[in-house]
Amino acid sequence: MKNHKISRRNFNKTLTAGIGGLGLTPQTTFASSFRKVNQDRKLGVALVGLGNYSTGQLAPALQETKNCYLSGVVTGTPAKEKVWAEKYNLPEKNIYNYENFDNIADNEDIDIIYVVLPNAMHAEYTVRAAQAGKHVICEKPMAITSEECQQMINACERANVKLSIGYRLHFEPHNQEIMRLGQNNVMGNIMFIDCGAGYLMGDNWDQWRLKKELAGTGALGNMGVYAIQGVIYTVGENPLYVRAQEFKTKPEKFKEVDETVTFQFEFPGGTVANLQTSHNARTNRLYASCESGWFELDPFSPYGGIKGSSSNGPIVYPQVNQQALQMDDFADCILNDRKTPVPGEMGKRDVQIIEAILESIDTGEKVMLSDLAF
Ligand code: NAD
Repeated sequence: MKNHKISRRNFNKTLTAGIGGLGLTPQTTFASSFRKVNQDRKLGVALVGLGNYSTGQLAPALQETKNCYLSGVVTGTPAKEKVWAEKYNLPEKNIYNYENFDNIADNEDIDIIYVVLPNAMHAEYTVRAAQAGKHVICEKPMAITSEECQQMINACERANVKLSIGYRLHFEPHNQEIMRLGQNNVMGNIMFIDCGAGYLMGDNWDQWRLKKELAGTGALGNMGVYAIQGVIYTVGENPLYVRAQEFKTKPEKFKEVDETVTFQFEFPGGTVANLQTSHNARTNRLYASCESGWFELDPFSPYGGIKGSSSNGPIVYPQVNQQALQMDDFADCILNDRKTPVPGEMGKRDVQIIEAILESIDTGEKVMLSDLAF
């Protein structure tokens, strides 16, 4: 089983090199010639898009980071400029809007651009950030299409800058523990894994998450990504097949995007997975049934309060600032020229899986997952 997992990964990486026509594997992507930074200083991060996630999580986390700090912002709302400048002591020259964004190329205080905009804007701002010579963190889902993801990857490669996705759970200890349990077959092979991520969306019908043009998909790209991620990093291999079903109980509200989606993965090593995502139901749990036991996180993906248990006893780790650890790790990747564990290729793989889920919903058929980017 273990060997099988490794060979499947290598198989995917080999495919990536071929498909992209780049002659590069993910390992060689950032190998040697990325933009050099002074290793003795904290790296400056500019947040692009000052909505809920930047305001409530990322900016506060950047007050706790060791390798990076909040050095600038990009906002389309003039009223926010003064508020953020005062609150975070930002010089006026480090505050940009969407029109003068590209001038950020000349700003040495900014090393990393963190794209925290509606999903449909991720590709454009990641490409522009790379063209400005800045390293990039892009929020999930990486983009609307896998083609856009590849353009983002290409732009960062061309500019010799690093690209990572805001997959904070890779830095969270309970989730790291289930990666260890699953990937090492500590309780034997995982026979069945069940994972759900969803919430009950409020009554603001104007929000961008309900608009196809800005969100791409509904629950699938927003919360479904957590379920896709959780199952894959626990099993430790990519699924081979997916079959999906969509349910719309409120068609007037979810006119443009999906409301509730259930989907199943078949893995090459024999694991079967059942996943659910919704903007109309609360769920947040990952449960793995193994040959000689079980383990579970319930909930598995919030910013705090993650709880775990297993047939061997409770899974208990400290609650951490996931975003601070995630951004510190990326800054460390830049400072020490190492690969991020959550690269653009991983974001592209998840968008490829979302595309296959949509295809399965459309056709009613099981879809084979081939040519995955990571
Ligand atoms: P939000 O609606 O609170 O903020 C979006 C920001 O984008 C706002 O500041 C808004 O002014 C700006 N914006 C620029 N152009 C816009 C346009 N045309 N329409 C609407 N807004 C526009 O959203 P959010 O919750 O902060 O989410 C932003 C991104 O971060 C999304 O991609 C989301 O998936 C991701 N996110 C990730 C996590 C995580 O845990 N990793 C959590 C929340 C959100």
